[in-house]
Parts: sequence; C-alpha cells; structure tokens
Amino acid sequence: MTSARKPKSEAAKLQFRIGYGWDSHEFQRGIPLKIGGVTLPHPKGLGGHSDGDVLLHALTDALLGAVAAPDIGSLFSPSNPKWKGADSAVFLREALDRIRSAGYIVANVDSTLILAAPKIGQHAAAIRAHIADLLSLPIDAVGVKAKTPEGMGTENAAIAHVVVLLEKKSAARSKPQKEER
Ligand code: MG
Repeated sequence: MTSARKPKSEAAKLQFRIGYGWDSHEFQRGIPLKIGGVTLPHPKGLGGHSDGDVLLHALTDALLGAVAAPDIGSLFSPSNPKWKGADSAVFLREALDRIRSAGYIVANVDSTLILAAPKIGQHAAAIRAHIADLLSLPIDAVGVKAKTPEGMGTENAAIAHVVVLLEKKSAARSKPQKEER
C-alpha cells in the first residue's frame, strides 16, 4: 500500500543499524521459567501476559527499535486476550519480518540478564543456541551473559538488556547512490 514517495530521512539507506531493548518480569511460583525460549528447571517462572520470556521480549524490542518500528507492547497489547500465554517466539518472528521488510538482516546480538536465581551459566549455551536458531545466526553471533542484582533489591525479578546490530541486505554489493526498494 505504500507509495514510492521520497523517504523523510536518510535512515533507510544506512548500512548498519543498532537496536536496544530492555524488559523485566516478576517471578511467580508454580509456572514454568522460560528464558530465551528455553525452559529452565526452577520452582518459579516469570509472570506476564504471554509466556513471560523476558529475554525474548527485550530481543524483540531491540529488533523493533533498530528499524524504529512500534514496540512490543504496542504491537501485542497485554490487554488483548489473544496473547495470553503466547509463545514469545511469535513476537520475535514479527520483529524479524519487520527488519527484513526494511531491508536488513541481523549481524549479531548481545544480552545481559540480571537475576538472583537460577544461575544462568550452565544454561547459557542452550539459550544461545536457541536464539541463534530463531534468528538464523551462528552461535558465536549471540552473546548471553548474566549478573546477580547486587544492591538493586530486585531479587524477585528477572531483567534483560539486549543490543542488536543490523546490516543492510547485500550491502557489500549494493551501490550507495540508488535507494533499494
Ligand atoms: Mg515483557
């Protein structure tokens, strides 16, 4: 439906774009803990309208932000019953569709989780592999680090920070003078 009108800015021509996302969810007893699409053994899970996957939510917002798209809460309203218990991979796929439509691919992702428990170290490889799979990236393009919330008083929450780098599709071959559609 979009006409071939001139872009308002030079942003569409950028070879690289950065995106940043942040999210937090509260721990609740008796629900599964999903982080980065991986179910981890723990007596508490993360509450929220969807599956509460704090890392996939922050990643989704980072991707959406990189192309200045509406954020996850605007696209998938928590008040919409459709998203109750939803697999957060659905949100991530929408964000990927949007960055691909904008002419970009994901170059790499880095993330930091902040949570008191469980320890993420032993699960980091599985989480990285799962995110790499979701994004069609090699595993060494996905960073997952974790910290405990020293002095923050957020022991009953999990927090995720994510940055992404996007690269213009076939940037190496495209000529800079003509806009890609
Ligand atoms: Mg969230």
